[in-house]
Formats: sequence, structure tokens, C-alpha cells
Amino acid sequence: MPAITYELIKTCKQTGARLGKVHTPHGSFETPIFMPVGTLATVKTMSPEELEEMGAKIILSNTYHLWLRPGEDIVKEAGGLHKFMNWDGSILTDSGGFQVFSLSDLRQIEEEGVHFRNHISGEKLFLSPEKAMHIQNSLGSDIMMAFDECPPYPAEHKYMKDSVERTSRWAERCLEAHQRPDVQGLFGIVQGGEYEDLRRQSARDLTSMDFAGYAVGGLSVGEPKDVMNRVLDFTTPLLPTDKARYLMGVGSPDSLIDGAIRGIDMFDCVLPTRIARNGTCMTSNGRLVIRNAKYARDFGPIDENCDCHVCRNYSRAYIRHLVKCNETFGFRLTTYHNLYFLLKLMGQVREAIKEDRLGDFREEFFEQYGFNKPNAKNF
Ligand SMILES: [Zn+2]
Repeated sequence: MPAITYELIKTCKQTGARLGKVHTPHGSFETPIFMPVGTLATVKTMSPEELEEMGAKIILSNTYHLWLRPGEDIVKEAGGLHKFMNWDGSILTDSGGFQVFSLSDLRQIEEEGVHFRNHISGEKLFLSPEKAMHIQNSLGSDIMMAFDECPPYPAEHKYMKDSVERTSRWAERCLEAHQRPDVQGLFGIVQGGEYEDLRRQSARDLTSMDFAGYAVGGLSVGEPKDVMNRVLDFTTPLLPTDKARYLMGVGSPDSLIDGAIRGIDMFDCVLPTRIARNGTCMTSNGRLVIRNAKYARDFGPIDENCDCHVCRNYSRAYIRHLVKCNETFGFRLTTYHNLYFLLKLMGQVREAIKEDRLGDFREEFFEQYGFNKPNAKNF
């Protein structure tokens, strides 16, 4: 048996969205699903116990950051990432490629790999497909990602074509270098920016190789939402129906629903946790900035339609007070609520697929959240 398998349960008659199940060595989960991001082997301010309590099944961790600190050898010595951080659910690790391209301004791309400088110490480093596989094999994540190039948006067609072809060659090297296919699954990443011919080429190259699942990369990098939706419209039909599909770096409620409608099964993003540490909450009535003076004497919950631990026990006034005083507990509360909100949203999406009414659900949700208003914020 391969380490990672995908089971298609049904498709929504109204939208074509997929309800499925992903099986990993650390349990199974229903899809579409949202994965909280735990960059440095921690979802900032949340304990693994809290993540479990709110219903998280799989989290994402960053290869680049764990390679630099504490180093993959220490994580391996601890018995792998699950043991190291005391998380018994599934873990997906990225390849480090995105951080190399987004954090480092001094980089040089060669056929062999990428030379760049450590964003903390300035030390010279080199990351290649083989190195990215070695690190992820040491971390022991359930799902590993192939090392790819993620060009910025917009990129010229010529540049993107060279990049897509190199990413395909790197993908082959990743499969070759992966040492633990019996316990860790490796996903390929389809690139090609906004260009249909290049997405087609990338998907053809990668689906001819035996990956455990496929990601759509290079989106949510600054392009308008309609570009992302258009790219998904022509890219997801190119992917096999019997393997999981993962849209990288997407976590605003509207994009999660629109991605699911376009056949995506898995999502991750730092958005809910990052804005929480700013005091911004996602609610069923749109985003709420808890610092606002109007909440000073508001003793109701963050979201009256939310049944999370935070909304059942703490008021807007109290959380506003903590956040304004920079009390860590305030950020813990907003983080908990935001993650719960997205996990619950994906549960509602799965329920709507079961009942063939995801299109109706989208309409209702967008209306209440305020996405249909002109000048609506992205989250
Ligand atoms: Zn809540």
C-alpha cells in the first residue's frame, strides 16, 4: 500500500466539488480540508491539544525553517516531527522552495539547485531536490512536497516555460531521492503561472510520474482572485481523479469555497493565524477588528453564530482589552477562534457537497460575510 491514498466519496451535483477521504500513516481525514500552518513545529500560540480539540486533522510545517532551526538531525533524533512536537495527527511539510524564493533576496538558480543566503544569519546555503527530500525524510512528515521553483506574479511566458521545465526535471529527481515511500507520500506541484499552455505542460509532465497527490502551486502570490479561479478552472481537470489535490497558500473563506467548487481537496494558509495576532477575527458576518473602540463595552462573543470554546466563554470587550495590552492570552483567543472558524467552514462545505447544495451554500455565505458588497475585503 502506498503511504497516502485518496478515496473519492462523491461529487456535488450542483458544483462538481469533491467530497473525499485522505488516508495517511497518522490517520484519515475527510476533504475538502483546511490545514493550519505550524511553521516552526508549532501553530503559533496553540498547543497540539487545542488543535485536536478544535478538530484539526492535519497541519503544515515548513522544511526551510526547521532545516535552519533546530536542524532536521535534531528532529530525527527526537523520533521525527510528530514525536518532537507531540502531534499525533497528520503532517504535511513543504519543500522549502517557496521560502528560498520569497525570503531570500540573494539567490542564484542553477540546474543543480538554488544558492541563497540564510535569512537570519546571512550564511551561504544550497538547496536542491535531493537535499529537500533528505530533510523531509528526516522530519518524517506524512506528506512531503517536491522541490519546485515558485516564480513571482507576473512572470513572462519565456521565463515561466524554462521554470516549468526545470521544475519537471527537479520533480523526477525528487522521486528518485525519496527514501521512505512506504511511510511518507510525495506530492508533485503543477506550476505555469497564469498560462494555460504551461499549466497543461506542467500537469502532463507531473502526472506521467508517480506522485501520491498533486498541488497547484504559484497561486495566491499576488494575482487577482479571478485569475486564480480561471487558472483553477483549466488546471484541476488536468489532474487525476484518484489522487488528492492541494491548493497551496490559500486561506480566505471565499477562496476556500471557490477552490472546493473547482475540485480542490486541501488548503493551507497563515492568514487566519497571522491576522489573529493582529486582533482581526473572521466571523460569519465578515471580518471584525477587535481593537475598535466600539467593542470596549461589548460583552457578546466574537461571533454569535460560533460555538467555539472562545465564543462560549469570552467577550469582545475582554479580548479587546487583552489585545490592546499585548497580552499573549488575547492572541491565543483570537487564533483559536479563527482556526475554529475555518475548520468549521470546511465542515459546512463538506456537508453541502453531501447534500448537493454547495452552490446555494456559497451564495448564502458570501451574502452574510459581505463578499457580495462592492469593495469587499478579501477576508
Ligand atoms: Zn468562536
